[in-house]
Amino acid sequence: MKVLCPGCNGLLYETNVIAPDGSQSSAGKPPAIHNDGDDAYITCPHCQVKVVMLRSDTSAATGFRPSHVKP
Ligand SMILES: [Zn+2]
Repeated sequence: MKVLCPGCNGLLYETNVIAPDGSQSSAGKPPAIHNDGDDAYITCPHCQVKVVMLRSDTSAATGFRPSHVKP
């Protein structure tokens, strides 16, 4: 699934990109998550907009998802 920037519609990252050996491809990994004290967020590599990330824990791992993307 492609996760698109809410500001410029550019590709932020792609989920579920699994290499044949089972590892996540580096291209599919979400960018580094920053934290300004209130929000966890990533920065769009295209337009530098701040994309707020919500905690999205699963039984397998602690994760984040963009607040504008429905699970
Ligand atoms: Zn953008």
